[in-house]
Amino acid sequence: MHSNYIHFHRYSIGQEEKDAVLAALDSGWITKGPRVAAFETAVCEYTGAAAALALNSCTAGLHLALMALGIGPGDEVITTPLTFVATVNMILAVGATPVLADIDPSTLNIDTQSVAEKISSRTRAMIPVHVAGQPCDLRPLLQLADAHQIKVIDDAAHAIGASYHGKKIGAWCDATVFSFYATKNITTGEGGMLLSQDPALVEAARPISLHGLSKDAWKRYSNAGFQHYLVDAPGYKYNMNDIQAAMGLEQLKKCDVLTQKRREKVLFYQQALADLPLSFQQPIRDIEHAHHLFPVRLDLNALRCSRDQVLEKLHQAGIGCAVHFIPVHEHPYYQRYFGNLQTALPQATAAGQDLLSLPLYPTLESDDQLRVVETLRQILTQAKK
Ligand SMILES: *Cc1c(COP(=O)(O)O)cnc(C)c1O
Repeated sequence: MHSNYIHFHRYSIGQEEKDAVLAALDSGWITKGPRVAAFETAVCEYTGAAAALALNSCTAGLHLALMALGIGPGDEVITTPLTFVATVNMILAVGATPVLADIDPSTLNIDTQSVAEKISSRTRAMIPVHVAGQPCDLRPLLQLADAHQIKVIDDAAHAIGASYHGKKIGAWCDATVFSFYATKNITTGEGGMLLSQDPALVEAARPISLHGLSKDAWKRYSNAGFQHYLVDAPGYKYNMNDIQAAMGLEQLKKCDVLTQKRREKVLFYQQALADLPLSFQQPIRDIEHAHHLFPVRLDLNALRCSRDQVLEKLHQAGIGCAVHFIPVHEHPYYQRYFGNLQTALPQATAAGQDLLSLPLYPTLESDDQLRVVETLRQILTQAKK
């Protein structure tokens, strides 16, 4: 590896998280317990959601949200191809049929008109994704859903702290899922959360997240006296533990400060790269972006090289970059599942060929960021037609 390799991502964990984890270890309770409950409450307070369930991943949250909404075989769920495959994998996990709508090429988020075109008599839900942390235009999506009695689960893996029309992501849809994976804006190592404005939905998901047990273990061992656990329905093992929650509580306190640092770096990129043959994700009105990623779209018509060649040159120069995302329909399994969707999803297919995410994280040093900019400038200037 390059001696001063610029990583694509670095998490921001400080002494507060370390102290909190040690306190959890010393507390005598390390599985799901009071710290998990406190983290759920804190995320509700932060987002304005009515109820929350802390989990071991966002993927688990997607699975439980679909289950709690009663979605299963014969049902169709519309989502975007420009997402991490977990979104679509979980639609399959409940036996439902994923249907891909195209994206808006300027925002990279799902296109409302395309969603409208994909609605059938079997459509039961849609899963918009706030790509890179930029909220989808939720009002038209929610109106469409309302008109067709479709549930909306927003995959907010990138979007904790983001807001739309003055209200935080997490308080808009039937269900919202966050990810606390190591690369996400705030992290618990691995982790996720399901939120809803409907406490009944979260309470339906809660036992399924812990084998189907009727009582959480730490409550069974409380002073209320001995209680047997009983299984009402078979469930999964999706709970968060108190070590993760201890970390999450500290990370959440820093969320806005970390996002502000990301925003400053985004502004620097936008100014420094403005004259290059590439474009940025275009904002929509009245949002606050969580700036999880900084994606750029290369203007391949103006260049004599492919996106992957640019990636390779950046890597050789010691700069870590990534692609968010290779569209779902381009993965071998989904190519077999859907057949060829390249012409049916022209915008997502094109984005899948020219997208590139540059390093973005709170501790990215300004001279490293300058090196990213200068290296990309050099690569693109040499490749210009
Ligand atoms: C990271 C991610 C997920 C999955 O999150 P996990 O916590 O790793 O399960 C789901 N959707 C999107 C859009 C993601 O980026």
